[in-house]
Amino acid sequence: MNYIDLRSDTVTKPTPEMREAMAAAEVGDDVYGEDPTVNRLQELSAEKTGHEAGLFVPTGTMGNLSAILAHCQRGDEVILGKSAHTYLYEAGGLSVLGGVHSCQLPNQPDGSLALDEIEAAIRPDDPHQPITRLITLENTHNHCGGTFQTVAYMHNISEFAHARGLKVHLDGARVFNAAAALNVAVNKLTSPMDSVTFCLSKGLSAPVGSVLCGSKTFIDRARRARKILGGGMRQAGVLAAAGIIAIDKMTSRLGEDHLRARVLAEGLTKIPGIELDEGTPATNMIFFNLTDEANMLANQLAKKLKDIGILVGVDGERRIRLVTHFWYKEDDVDKTVNAFNTILK
Ligand SMILES: *Cc1c(COP(=O)(O)O)cnc(C)c1O
Repeated sequence: MNYIDLRSDTVTKPTPEMREAMAAAEVGDDVYGEDPTVNRLQELSAEKTGHEAGLFVPTGTMGNLSAILAHCQRGDEVILGKSAHTYLYEAGGLSVLGGVHSCQLPNQPDGSLALDEIEAAIRPDDPHQPITRLITLENTHNHCGGTFQTVAYMHNISEFAHARGLKVHLDGARVFNAAAALNVAVNKLTSPMDSVTFCLSKGLSAPVGSVLCGSKTFIDRARRARKILGGGMRQAGVLAAAGIIAIDKMTSRLGEDHLRARVLAEGLTKIPGIELDEGTPATNMIFFNLTDEANMLANQLAKKLKDIGILVGVDGERRIRLVTHFWYKEDDVDKTVNAFNTILK
């Protein structure tokens, strides 16, 4: 069956233009720094995000971990959100492999961290305690509903951190969605950061890869960390070629996914048994709960939808997540609303 797949924007397959570019890519050994296509992707990424250098990594998880290993020593501490992807869904890599401790603060509704709570969490110089080294942010914030934080916030937290001798890393897996929602160039959000990772393989539709950006000296350290983690790839230009198209062609169209999510959410509000989160969708993610009126749980609804060709994300007993993306087209919206209506009526 040809499913309408709303589970995640990670399900996006490469576009025909990406496949052609991948087939034609000039390649070399990237561990020797000799892959011209990887080099081009890294330069383009650095330029876009307002940093000196970039590093192509196979996954966002490796990008975030390489960044943490490059910023921190064993016994250092990272301040991050309780709902951060790095805290929840990266298998604890910072502690497992980095010997880095984490301090988790509650995320605000928009996914941000409150500066006064960070201030209170910074460790005094005391041999009993780990050393506060890094703040990690996430924008857009996945677990907080695809919410975004403003340019002013990114500036404030960067000034705040630097005044206290701390660094700031941004897990910007979907930072281009944040830029689209705010209608600003992405560097407005990313250049105040000491480092940023973004995913090519989500809404930007490339098959594989993320890019970590920062200063030249930082990226040199991160390249060593990537090698330790087994991420030194050889003729990776075949993958980077799709990444270049992701940046050149796909970043400017993300607003369409946000619009489609809004239209879909409007259709869903009218269906009994569905209670949308307040403010959803902020970008390309819709979150809702099933009320008693629905007479079924989320996994039962997901199964019924699957039987008629629609895949959704189950995010809790009564909770569903829908993510729009390049391959979710205009006609799919009516089909989705009708399917929910048929099952829940
Ligand atoms: C997807 C994602 C990542 C990285 O995921 P990978 O699957 O390792 O590429 C990191 N942070 C956030 C917020 C994400 O949504």
